[in-house]
Amino acid sequence: LFITFEGNDGAGKTTISKLVYERMLDKGYPVIYTREPGGIKIAEQIRKVILDPENIEMDAKTEALLYAASRRQHLIEKVLPAIEQGKIVLCDRFIDSSLAYQGVGRQLGIKEVFEINQFAIEGHMPDATVFLSLPPETGLSRIKSRAFKDRLDQETESFHQRVALGYEQILKQFAERMHIVDASQSIDKVAEQAYEEVIGVLKH
Ligand code: C5P
Ligand code: MG
Repeated sequence: LFITFEGNDGAGKTTISKLVYERMLDKGYPVIYTREPGGIKIAEQIRKVILDPENIEMDAKTEALLYAASRRQHLIEKVLPAIEQGKIVLCDRFIDSSLAYQGVGRQLGIKEVFEINQFAIEGHMPDATVFLSLPPETGLSRIKSRAFKDRLDQETESFHQRVALGYEQILKQFAERMHIVDASQSIDKVAEQAYEEVIGVLKH
């Protein structure tokens, strides 16, 4: 089973997915945690190129292709073998991030970004997605206290607004696999609800 975590920057994807992972481990579920872009050596190397603040000249399509390349390697090397072994894979970000960030944030188009990603993932879509819902302004104020301010300069508020609009479209387009959790609540509550959503998917 393949379960992804999505949401705007600052929504708490990393924090919450790790808490859900630890809780599932405690309860004895065969689960692994991984993240995008990264999770394995080649994909982490690609992540460094994409996120290098010195690469400000990076073209939006180059960026989208690199994310898709990193996604494929991570899927082939880590996600699919784990699923094959009967594991539950929790992944911090996946294709929906590209649809929202590159498709709408960078204005390449959801359809266009979906197509290059199909080449990369060959139909391996998530079984379920926990969507951490938070107004982009709240997310931005949360991440402003984080270290990577250089990144914030390139990714303006209007970019984050577009990403949020992108996610809204994606929520509609892929409504069957979406599990929306209100991420403005306390970490404990968000983690509890996200956990319940994942367990609900397993029992289905
Ligand atoms: O949340 P995470 O640490 O994975 O994201 C790192 C950075 O990459 C963030 O600034 C996020 O906005 C950006 N990103 C992106 N397009 C994606 C995934 C992440 O621009 N598809
Ligand atoms: Mg994160």
